Amino acid sequence: MLGAIEAGGTKFVCAVGDEDFKIIERVSFATTYPEETLQRVFDFFDTYPQVKAIGIGSFGPIEVNKQSQKYGYITSTPKTNWRNFNFLGEMKKQYSIPIGWTTDVNAACLGEYKVGSAADDHSCIYLTVGTGIGGGAIVKGEIIEGFGHTEMGHIIIRSHPDDDFDGFCPYHKNCLEGLAAGPSIEKRYGIKAENLDANHKIWEILAYYLAQALVNYTLILRPEKIILGGGVMNQVRMMDLVKKEFSFLLADYVETPDLDAYIVTPSLRDNAGITGGLILARQAL
Ligand code: ADP
Ligand code: ZN
Repeated sequence: MLGAIEAGGTKFVCAVGDEDFKIIERVSFATTYPEETLQRVFDFFDTYPQVKAIGIGSFGPIEVNKQSQKYGYITSTPKTNWRNFNFLGEMKKQYSIPIGWTTDVNAACLGEYKVGSAADDHSCIYLTVGTGIGGGAIVKGEIIEGFGHTEMGHIIIRSHPDDDFDGFCPYHKNCLEGLAAGPSIEKRYGIKAENLDANHKIWEILAYYLAQALVNYTLILRPEKIILGGGVMNQVRMMDLVKKEFSFLLADYVETPDLDAYIVTPSLRDNAGITGGLILARQAL
């Protein structure tokens, strides 16, 4: 039996699954203080002593560099209670089994790569467009990381001529997350994204920003598939608008797979991250 944790900024998901990465049981609870939240994680896994390894996909930024003293920590997160929290270390104190460690989006990417939308590909990118924007990339089975993990949500974006908002990211003006994550709608219009009219001009503007990012990722990595998840992608016209803008911006400079097969939704839906955690656990063994 394998275990997985999807540690999100708003909620935690814990699950156990079988060797085929099928989820056997899954629980979810709010992310509160680190000690309190970890206690609920322990309460869950303590009932499954047969778990052989656990994979963690965590919100971040996190330290993934094994050379670093802070390997396994959540580092500079805006959630101050969790800043400098030795997540992996606390888990290892509790359980002496192999534990895999990566970002929430890398885990989701791994899930989609192995058993989801990119199961037939050798490379893919997973991007979530939700409360924040984050992405992961896998090439030939390997998560792309080096000195640290990728930060695909904070790339700098060219403003749309009809948008004078310069984003809500405290670090950068005009980064993708600041301009196009869900809360950017509320900052612009004082109304939640899901309550804004489907025909509002802003959806075209957001699509323009997301398409710029996808063009850049395409040019840098030339993946076989880009998977777009997260709450904002539930907006009915978003997928089509992104593909249209992408095609316009790329201007046929390089070839990609047919757009409907290239830019897709996660087939594991809400289970991409936790399934990726099970795969990570397997790899840790
Ligand atoms: P998280 O990123 O916290 O894991 P989600 O992926 O569910 O959560 O994304 C939440 C964000 O998605 C919120 O900012 C919300 O306003 C936005 N959102 C949810 N549904 C829609 C929708 N139908 N259209 C546009 N934005 C949406
Ligand atoms: Zn930023």
